[in-house]
Amino acid sequence: MILVDGYFFTRHAASGGKMRYRCCKYNIGCTACLYTLLDDSAVVRMKNVHNHPINIRRYYPYY
Ligand SMILES: [Zn+2]
Repeated sequence: MILVDGYFFTRHAASGGKMRYRCCKYNIGCTACLYTLLDDSAVVRMKNVHNHPINIRRYYPYY
């Protein structure tokens, strides 16, 4: 699980030399996803469009 801009992504599958992550809310229809290098050293592609609010408000966790 990785956290990007307050959204959680869970590891989904490796493909084409990259690791695919999908939003932890994929089960409610969120199609956001991202790809990292296989060793997770860098994010190479990202579709950070969600159909739900942010998972974590970094500076105001109880807001
Ligand atoms: Zn999402």
